[in-house]
Amino acid sequence: MTATIETPAATAGAATPTFESLNPANGDVVGVHPITSKAEVDAAVARAREAADWWGNLTFKEREEFLLTWRSVITRRIAQLADVSHLETGKPHSDAQLEIVLAIDHIAWAAKHAKKVLGSQKVKSGLLMANQASTVEYKPLGVVGVIGPWNYPVFTPCGSIAYALAAGNAVVFKPSEYTPGVGQWLADTFTEVVHGRPVFQVVTGLGDTGNALCTSAVNKLAFTGSGATGKKVMAACATNLTPVIIEAGGKDSLIVDEDADLAKAAEGALWCGLANAGQTCIGTERVYVHEKVFDKFMAEITEQAKDLRAGSDPEAKIGPITMPSQIGIIKSHIDDAIAKGANVVMGGSDAVGERFVQPTILTHVPENSTEITEETFGPTLAINPVKSMDEAVELTNATRYGLAGAVYAKKNGVDIARRVRSGMTSVNSVTAFAGVPGLPFGGVGESGFGRIHGPDGLREFTYAKAITRQRMKPLMNLTSFARDAKTDNKVATMITMMHGGKKTLK
Ligand code: NAD
Repeated sequence: MTATIETPAATAGAATPTFESLNPANGDVVGVHPITSKAEVDAAVARAREAADWWGNLTFKEREEFLLTWRSVITRRIAQLADVSHLETGKPHSDAQLEIVLAIDHIAWAAKHAKKVLGSQKVKSGLLMANQASTVEYKPLGVVGVIGPWNYPVFTPCGSIAYALAAGNAVVFKPSEYTPGVGQWLADTFTEVVHGRPVFQVVTGLGDTGNALCTSAVNKLAFTGSGATGKKVMAACATNLTPVIIEAGGKDSLIVDEDADLAKAAEGALWCGLANAGQTCIGTERVYVHEKVFDKFMAEITEQAKDLRAGSDPEAKIGPITMPSQIGIIKSHIDDAIAKGANVVMGGSDAVGERFVQPTILTHVPENSTEITEETFGPTLAINPVKSMDEAVELTNATRYGLAGAVYAKKNGVDIARRVRSGMTSVNSVTAFAGVPGLPFGGVGESGFGRIHGPDGLREFTYAKAITRQRMKPLMNLTSFARDAKTDNKVATMITMMHGGKKTLK
C-alpha cells in the first residue's frame, strides 16, 4: 500500500484527523484511517492493561485455543488479507499470500510452544543450596507496543504480536502509515476471536503516533523498521526506561563458493535480491562469487533474469516501489556504483521509473560505493568476484549491519555460514531461517538487537521469575546472625573442595 505521507489529509476542523493510504502502483486511495493522538494512544494502552489482566491470567491452554482459532480465521480468509496487502504494498498477490502463510505457521508455533518454553521449570539448586527446590518461569510483561514496517506488513509485525500474545501480554500495534489496512485487519480478526476484548488493538497514524506509543505506559516496545527511526524509538523509550527490541535494516550478502550448484545459487540470488521489488530486510543486496566460477554464475543469472520485469499486470513478478521516497535512493545507489566504475549487466539508471524499478544487475561494484555500503531496498544486485571464501567472508562482514545472508557451497557451506557476522544464514537456500518457527530472528550491529520467533522470541516478551522453596533444613545455616565460626570453617572447607582444585592454579 503505500501511502499517505504526501497526502496526509489531516482534515482541518474535523474531530479526528485522518490520512490516506495509497496504492503504489497507480496512486489510488485504498483507505482512510485516523491519525491517533497521544491521548488516544494512552487510552488504548490503558484499555490494553485491563485486557492484559484477563488474558495474562488465562492458562497457556486457553490462550493457545484463542490463538489457534485466530490462526484458522486468517487461514480461511487468506485471500482477503492478501488483497489488502496487495493493494497497500503493491506486491503481487501470490507474494502477499506467501508472507501470510509464514505468519500463520508462526502464530501456531508460538501458541503451541508457549507453555513448554515459558511454564515453570525445575532448576538444579547446586550443592550449597541442596535443601532448596528451585524453579524458573517466564511471566508476561503486561502491555507490549509493536511498531511495524510496510514491506512485510503481516509476517514482520506478527513475529512480535503473536509471540507477545502467546506469552500472555496484551498488544497495541502501530502499523506503518503505508499499510494501516493490513494492521487493522489483523487486529479486527483477533478481536472477533476474543469476543471484543481489547487484547490486541491497532493505533493508526504517522511517526508521531509511533512516538506516542514509545512514551506511553507500555512495558516493552518491539520496533521493526529503519535504523534511523530505531534510534528515535530508543531515545523516546528511554524516557520511561521502557525496554526495546530493534529489528532494523540490513545489507545481506549471498556467497557462492567454487563447488556450489550455480544454477541454484543464481536462482536464490535473483529471488532473494529482487522479489518484493528488493524491499526485504533479509534480502540479498550483495553477491560474492568465487572468481573461478564467476563467469558461469553470471551466465546463469543473466539467463534466468532475462524475462523478469516489474509491472502492475498479473504476469509481472515484481511490483512497484512501495514508498515513493525510496525511488531516489535506489537511483542514487545505482548512479554512484556506475560513476565509480561498476559494469551494468542489466537495468541501470534508466531502469528507475516513477513508480517501478526494473531489475538491475551490476558487477565489479566498488566496495566504497553506496550500492555496497548502504541499504538500497530496491530490485538491484551488486555481484563481485572474490579470490577466496576468506575474502568473501571479510567483505561480507565489512558492514555496520549484520542481519542475515546465504551461502551456496557443497563442502564448506556451514563453516562459511558460521564465520559470517549476522543473526541468520541459510546454506544452499535463501531466507529459509525465517520459515523455521523454532529459530530466533534478529540481527547484530546496526541491524538491531533482541530476537523474535522461536523460544528466544517468546522469552523476549516476558520477565524471568525465579522461585526457591526450602524443602528441608539447610546443612549449614548461612543466612542468619546465628552463623558461627564453626559454620564459617565448614563452608570454607566445602567451597575449597568444590572449587579450589588445581585447575585454577595454571
Ligand atoms: P521506518 O523506520 O520508516 O518506519 C517504521 C515504523 O516506524 C513505521 O510504522 C513508522 O510510522 C514508525 N515511525 C516513524 N517515525 C517514528 C518515530 N519518531 N517514533 C516511533 N515510530 C516512528 O521503516 P519502514 O520504511 O517502514 O521499513 C523499512 C525498513 O524496515 C528497512 O530498513 C528494512 O530493512 C527494515 N525492516 C527490518 C526488518 C527486520 O526484521 N530486521 C523487517 C522488515 C523491515
